[in-house]
Amino acid sequence: MSDCIFCKIIAGEIPSQKVYEDEDVYAFHDIHPFARVHFMIIPRLHIASLADATPEHRELLGKIMLLAPKLAKEQGLDSGFKTLVNTGKGGGQEVFHLHVHVFGGGPAAK
Ligand code: AMP
Ligand code: ZN
Repeated sequence: MSDCIFCKIIAGEIPSQKVYEDEDVYAFHDIHPFARVHFMIIPRLHIASLADATPEHRELLGKIMLLAPKLAKEQGLDSGFKTLVNTGKGGGQEVFHLHVHVFGGGPAAK
């Protein structure tokens, strides 16, 4: 998707603060964090939203969910974290490339 900002982040066309990457997924810090630690995990594959995911994405979605606790711990969220997936305009989704927010550690520094 040429006009997708998260595809551009994956391609390195827009800078990001990388948390993790492998052949399937990319994770990076949210530019407007709502917690002290706030990053997103996204598939390299452009899936617009959770509502656009199909059974063929089952393994990819499972991989993302299993990465959340691992990366959260690496980012210092030892006692727990929150996850959030906004889906569709009614769900408050602003960027239409599927992403799982992972955040915690108290309020973001001002
Ligand atoms: P959502 O409302 O779930 O679609 O959230 C999109 C998130 O992407 C928001 O929390 C934004 O702060 C974040 N975001 C938008 N552009 C960038 C960017 N260039 N780098 C990092 N995060 C971004
Ligand atoms: Zn995309």
